[in-house]
Amino acid sequence: MYISDMLKSKKINISFEVFPPKKTEMFEGVRAAVAELAGLGPNFISVTYGAGGGTSAYTADISSEIQDKHKITALSHLTCVASTKDEIDVISSRLKEKGIENILAMRGDIPEDDKDFPNPKHFIHASDLITRLKEKGGFCIGGACYPEGHIECSDIETDLNNLKYKVDCGCDFLITQLFFDNSAFMRFREKCAAKGISVPILAGIMPVQSASQIKRMCSLSGASLTPKFTKMVEKYQDDTPALLQAGIAYATEQIVDLISNDADGIHIYTMNKPNIARQIMSNISYLI
Ligand code: FAD
Repeated sequence: MYISDMLKSKKINISFEVFPPKKTEMFEGVRAAVAELAGLGPNFISVTYGAGGGTSAYTADISSEIQDKHKITALSHLTCVASTKDEIDVISSRLKEKGIENILAMRGDIPEDDKDFPNPKHFIHASDLITRLKEKGGFCIGGACYPEGHIECSDIETDLNNLKYKVDCGCDFLITQLFFDNSAFMRFREKCAAKGISVPILAGIMPVQSASQIKRMCSLSGASLTPKFTKMVEKYQDDTPALLQAGIAYATEQIVDLISNDADGIHIYTMNKPNIARQIMSNISYLI
């Protein structure tokens, strides 16, 4: 089922993100986590994409298992920065053969040692990839967006103009980068509406698991921390179970607020941890 059709329903859409195994020997562990997550009944499960090597093929394998075995719609992530246009055509044909109808189409991070970028054999922006996938047809396309601006972009206005262009190239919906400050999301949503970006925007929520994870995520994404969140992490950073519990409470509070403010959907970055997703789903069971 196309995710864009799912999002027409009045019910709040709850989805999960998982990542594929990095090595073959990790495959069974990921499969087991995915099976548990699927049992929690999300509307769809997205599978991240690590460019190159075996990992990229695992995205398709895990995605088709989500659909064929667990009967849940899968959203396959796909990035274009490390593949040629011809390779992208092969990968997208493979996804189609496996029955994958939904792709989260992104540029990907430019490797620091990539002296070759931009290379005419590759797509440069996510919008180029989206245009190609739309030409190919048969896919519902999601795009990434950044409530606090993409880390490479000098100002929010330019980033929003680029986002508007990307959506006009054929994005059917957007999923945000993780954020800890709901007011950043609300402001972003208003700015998107003012720009004429009218596709559904799913809010990406990551429950905190460790202080080091948050540091890494924030330096990669540029997400800002609220004073309340910082205090919580400082207080419980050396007590993993306490931090986990506090993180689930914080994420739940964010989600309740987002649902109350009519967010189009909530996308939970599960980090392949069914227990965390289970507790959040239980906390919001009467809201969804
Ligand atoms: P783009 O939309 O191309 O934007 C990248 C930058 O270029 C921005 O600064 C933008 O303002 C600028 N830009 C865009 N279009 C133009 C234009 N036409 N002219 C000039 N400038 C332009 N990465 C992975 O490797 N694997 C994943 O599975 C993955 N999943 C993700 C899921 C979500 C929900 C999100 C939010 C991010 C994910 N990422 C993933 C990270 C993503 O690949 C990076 O953030 C990457 O740096 C940007 O990708 P993009 O598709 O947003 O790029």
